[in-house]
Amino acid sequence: GEDVGQARPEYVKSFQVENKLMPSTWIVVRIDGCHFHRFSDVHEFEKPNDEKALNLMNSCAVAMLEEFPDIVFSYGVSDEFSFVLKKELSQLYKRCSSEIVSLIVSFFSSMYVMKWKECFPQKELKYPPSFDGRAICYPSSKILRDYLAWRQVDCHINNQYNTCFWMLVKSGKSKTEAQHTLKGTRAREKIELLIQHFSINYSTLPAMFRQGSSVFRHKHLFKESVVKNAHSLSSDYVTVRVLNDGFQQESQIVCAALTAFLSLSGRPL
Ligand code: ATP
Ligand code: ATP
Ligand code: MG
Ligand code: MG
Ligand code: MG
Ligand code: MG
Repeated sequence: GEDVGQARPEYVKSFQVENKLMPSTWIVVRIDGCHFHRFSDVHEFEKPNDEKALNLMNSCAVAMLEEFPDIVFSYGVSDEFSFVLKKELSQLYKRCSSEIVSLIVSFFSSMYVMKWKECFPQKELKYPPSFDGRAICYPSSKILRDYLAWRQVDCHINNQYNTCFWMLVKSGKSKTEAQHTLKGTRAREKIELLIQHFSINYSTLPAMFRQGSSVFRHKHLFKESVVKNAHSLSSDYVTVRVLNDGFQQESQIVCAALTAFLSLSGRPL
């Protein structure tokens, strides 16, 4: 009767709706730490930038590129990382969004836990970190570059704010006072505040803090004059690079690296 019909696999499966990512587009999966404001407090990250925590993120990203040949480029800042998947070739899980995102998020989270001790030998991991993730399709290399530029501008704005905020707090202001002092200030004023009150020249702070990190397959695609400060060499073919000078505008460094990557791999913008 009816009950038997309703137990048939086709019937149950008919509730699974397709969630395929558009063909012939770049797929970007961006993951972000869940409640890392709290996670960084509980684990006493240095503020505004804990270098070890950033290196842990980078080293997880290296592991991602080693595990998934479909990932061609990635960019990270704070508790987030964007993974760019090959345009035409990506048949990873037949471009099914929920499979790809869950695979990347779970592998990254496991790596973060596995590599914790390497980066924080003196610190106990107090609770399991989690990450959320989403997949976005970008139909052209130019739009993909604009996406990365957006993430890097975000890094720049947040880092400039956080650097001022934590200098004010470390100099004795309350968090509310520091917030109040910075409210409505422009980039220029923040740079001046750092120089005048704390003798800090913002542009000399580590590139990784100001500009984020790119992880990509190296294979000597980049001239050494363009890519500097390799701060970790995890395997023969994947290297973590912090991109710094050599370009006019800071916010375009990651994009320039991507442009170079695309043109050298035969896919100019
Ligand atoms: P959500 O779950 O919505 O992402 P969140 O607390 O993770 O919330 P984010 O906007 O993702 O909020 O910000 C991440 C926060 O994690 C930063 O504000 C910062 O406090 C902290 N954080 C992440 N990485 C570092 C680091 N390397 N050094 C210091 N603090 C960090
Ligand atoms: P996929 O990545 O496609 O899921 P898979 O190898 O994980 O591939 P599944 O169909 O999910 O394939 O099957 C899981 C396999 O894991 C089982 O075939 C079995 O060999 C093994 N497995 C899982 N749990 C157990 C368990 N508790 N005891 C023994 N073997 C297990
Ligand atoms: Mg989030
Ligand atoms: Mg977060
Ligand atoms: Mg974040
Ligand atoms: Mg399985």
